[in-house]
Amino acid sequence: AAKEAGRSTWRRFVPSMQARVESRFELEGELRKALDLQQLRLYLQPKTNREGQVYGTESLVRWEHPEKGLIPPDRFIPLAEDTGMILPLGEWVLKETLQLMTEYPQLSFAVNISPRQFRNPDFVARIKTLIQETGANPQRLTLEVTEGLLITDFNQSSRRMLELQQLGISFSIDDFGTGYSSLSYLKKLPINELKIDRSFVKDLPEDSSDALLVETMMAVAKHLQLSVVAEGVETQAQRDYLYSVDCNLHQGYFYGKPEPARQLLERLKP
Ligand code: C2E
Ligand code: MG
Ligand code: MG
Ligand code: MG
Repeated sequence: AAKEAGRSTWRRFVPSMQARVESRFELEGELRKALDLQQLRLYLQPKTNREGQVYGTESLVRWEHPEKGLIPPDRFIPLAEDTGMILPLGEWVLKETLQLMTEYPQLSFAVNISPRQFRNPDFVARIKTLIQETGANPQRLTLEVTEGLLITDFNQSSRRMLELQQLGISFSIDDFGTGYSSLSYLKKLPINELKIDRSFVKDLPEDSSDALLVETMMAVAKHLQLSVVAEGVETQAQRDYLYSVDCNLHQGYFYGKPEPARQLLERLKP
């Protein structure tokens, strides 16, 4: 019976695995063309302050596939990272964002930078060129990086961050709390902001261990004079709890989902 069960599991397993490999392979080829075919779309999600005002946005890329529809970044960013496609893709996101920055001078803009993009030796030079070409003000640009990037190559990362900081660029630690890293790096690096990962916000205010973690992160941030953004705020109860612990900068569906860049920006025009 065990053998029987094993065999039927195997039979079901193989085709689905094959489909996954095929679709990844297929997607990889198509992703190479997506840029040229202008299939990438820049979406923005608002960041809101305690007064309820949108003070900034985060750039979130989507891929508008002709047959598969709108593909979320979780399905192609890792692929782009593995294949090196992240370099032209990340450059596209930066350029699009910097171009918008000049038209909407009242807002700050955040862009996600993947490890391979950040480690590319040309990264600082590329950013400088893009700033010059677009005329964007780097004081209103924040780069979101993850904890993993900072730990694996601390010396190189910190040098690079300092160079970018000298241009006026700010840094935010994305998905903060998921990286199991030492807190000492926060003090040593030019970081301005922590983004509390959605997983800690999801079950607030009921989950007391998440509440404790959020309060601890707030204490760390206060001590190091960092601002804090809570990700994934979906309910009024979450918002109120976060306000009660003095976490006043929020991003999440409660305030607005990511939407096509122009659509959001036009609505925000003063
Ligand atoms: P992230 O940078 O942590 O972005 C936040 C993600 O949480 C976004 O997913 C956003 O749509 C989602 N989100 C925001 N508020 C809520 C909420 O209230 N509830 C729920 N359930 N989700 C919420 P998205 O747009 O699918 O992006 C996923 C990840 O893909 C991003 O996570 C980021 O790591 C990566 N990514 C997106 N765009 C880029 C890009 O241009 N470059 C790079 N390197 N990575 C990107
Ligand atoms: Mg982010
Ligand atoms: Mg995040
Ligand atoms: Mg996240």
